[in-house]
Amino acid sequence: MINAEGYWIVAGDSALEWGFMLDRNKRFSLLFPEIWQQFLNNSVGQVSTGEHIFSWKTVYPLSSHAISSSGSIEPIGQSNQVILDHQYFWKVGTHVTSRIVRKWREQEVYSALSLFLMISVLALFGNLLLAKSRLREQLNQSELASSERLLNIITSELAEGLIVLDAKGRLRMMNREAQRLLGWSEDELVGKDFHQQVHPLRACKSKQDCALLLAANRGMIQTDDDAVFFCRDGSSRALAYSAAPMLIDDRQSGLILTFQDITEQKKAKEQLIHLATHDPLTGLSNRRASELRLQELYDLSERYNKPLSVCMVDIDYFKKVNDSYGHLVGDLVLRRIAKCLLDSTRRVDCAGRYGGEEFLLILAETSVQGALQLGELLRKRVEQLLIEVEGLEDALSVTISIGVAENNLQCSNPDQLIKQADDALYRAKKEGRNRVCG
Ligand code: GH3
Ligand code: MG
Ligand code: MG
Repeated sequence: MINAEGYWIVAGDSALEWGFMLDRNKRFSLLFPEIWQQFLNNSVGQVSTGEHIFSWKTVYPLSSHAISSSGSIEPIGQSNQVILDHQYFWKVGTHVTSRIVRKWREQEVYSALSLFLMISVLALFGNLLLAKSRLREQLNQSELASSERLLNIITSELAEGLIVLDAKGRLRMMNREAQRLLGWSEDELVGKDFHQQVHPLRACKSKQDCALLLAANRGMIQTDDDAVFFCRDGSSRALAYSAAPMLIDDRQSGLILTFQDITEQKKAKEQLIHLATHDPLTGLSNRRASELRLQELYDLSERYNKPLSVCMVDIDYFKKVNDSYGHLVGDLVLRRIAKCLLDSTRRVDCAGRYGGEEFLLILAETSVQGALQLGELLRKRVEQLLIEVEGLEDALSVTISIGVAENNLQCSNPDQLIKQADDALYRAKKEGRNRVCG
């Protein structure tokens, strides 16, 4: 801060200050006369000389209409001159030397340099991170590709059919074996409703029995070892399958189905069951199967109070046939009579070979009258049956005797019913054979 005479009032160095009071001859106006001239000529300004930078502003510290004087250097003296408010001014400003400017510039350069360095380091770091993440991405992609290849190899070599469904039951993928078994290509079924195309609900016993729906609803593995899937050509295929919920991030996202064709196993199983339950010579139910069926129908008859009748059929003088024409002819006769019995009974009934040349007919919901009628019909049919035998000029004919019994109060189990029929058969034999007794 400099007064109008060019003395410092406030300066960076206190030795320069208050020269007009302390009789110091150090003035700004003397030290920098050209600059001072510019200070006086301009109320505000900035001058740069290369070595120095001066910035200033003129302030008028007296309040309006106040009067001051130039004062005196004597301790007690008269003021030399009256100064009006607008004539009394100070110059307030800054003086910056080139050294400081250089320092500032250096600092600026340093700051810029450090900023540049910092940005460079950050950019380098960023690039490193980017490169690392790209590398990881590339690695992930190649890992993903090799996992996919591995999965493709495994699924296509799998001996079981494999189908993956999405959460809405639409097909997502099927392996080679699944395509072979069903005749559909993956492209044809992808995105299509699996139930509609391959496993309609009509193929299940009921909605509650559909392992596929149960697996989806319960979120648990379900199996069906006797299911039907429909092929592309409309034919059906017997399959055993398991349906497992597919969890992705703990969320059920679909089902994984694995299945095998069980047509051959099913046939073999049916053959085994047939062998175990049928007589190999005549194809009728064997004794054990006949007895089981009798127990079933007997229970139903008791439970629903419905009639149930049995016929015990025995070939008359069959021993003679064997003795006269041989066992093979005897077998042929057995087969012809068995067929006649089978053709004369309903599906709900049972025609079984009970012993050597004895047959048991179990007639569901049939009274003794109905059984006697059927027995008479059978007797006549067998009587009229002409059995052609190779090598024999004349056809053979045989007769049968039949004992009939109905489930009644005297019966308390199937054995007793059989016993009554046996007794009736005995009577038929005794009364001369080729007859029906009840
Ligand atoms: P009846 O009128 O009293 O019944 O006389 P039948 O000769 O029929 O009775 P019997 O019990 O004396 O003879 C039954 C014969 O049936 C004896 C047996 O050799 C024959 N037989 C049993 N099983 C078979 C078979 O599987 N094949 C053949 N060919 N004969 C059989
Ligand atoms: Mg006999
Ligand atoms: Mg007999």
